[in-house]
Amino acid sequence: DLSNLEAASKMVLEAGADVLHLDVMDGAFVPNISFGFPVIESLRKNLPDAYLDVHMMVAEPEKWVEVVAKAVGAAEGKRAQYTFHIEATDNPKAIIEAIRATGMRVGVGIKPNTTIAEIEEIIPLVDTVLVMTVEPGFGGQSFMGPGHATNDVLPKVLDVRTRFGDKDIEVDGGLSAATIVEAAGAGANMIVAGSSVFKGDPKETIVSLRAGVLKYGLGKTDEQINEIL
Ligand code: ZN
Repeated sequence: DLSNLEAASKMVLEAGADVLHLDVMDGAFVPNISFGFPVIESLRKNLPDAYLDVHMMVAEPEKWVEVVAKAVGAAEGKRAQYTFHIEATDNPKAIIEAIRATGMRVGVGIKPNTTIAEIEEIIPLVDTVLVMTVEPGFGGQSFMGPGHATNDVLPKVLDVRTRFGDKDIEVDGGLSAATIVEAAGAGANMIVAGSSVFKGDPKETIVSLRAGVLKYGLGKTDEQINEIL
């Protein structure tokens, strides 16, 4: 409920979410508009300790690094990540440097039809690779994994996990207790979930997503998982 963002955010953080993922959309890079920096700034005031993961689905992502850094409180040491899309820039290295200079973590995102070859040169420079598992722009879409009609993006996740083992790999779109098995199995460890968390029991969903990463991604036994959870 975007008119009650603070309460919804607190609810999912209390339910066990590690990170609050904020989808900023500009109506140009994606065919939808969500919210902008004053909203993030207000949210930060009310959630001083939350790790804010700002997913910039915008054209010209280099324009907003300073603005987002200020909104999230990067200079005060507040935890945040700035994720830009490779499709939106010709100079990813300059953006990465600008983000680093603010103290925020750096993420690079790719849409479903973008290949790893287009980012492999810069992967060593970032903290997180975000692989979109739906076309960005709208919530509630179905997951582009094995069995999807047009595109299975999980081989890209596996490729990054195999060649760049220390990176966080974030998957975004259609993640649920059902699709976590394949996503975590391919190597995703940062799981963005909207619909499945807010439409079901948030705590139950978050526990099942975390258990999925531990089991199918890290090979933990059920006994070890019960101890961790
Ligand atoms: Zn997102």
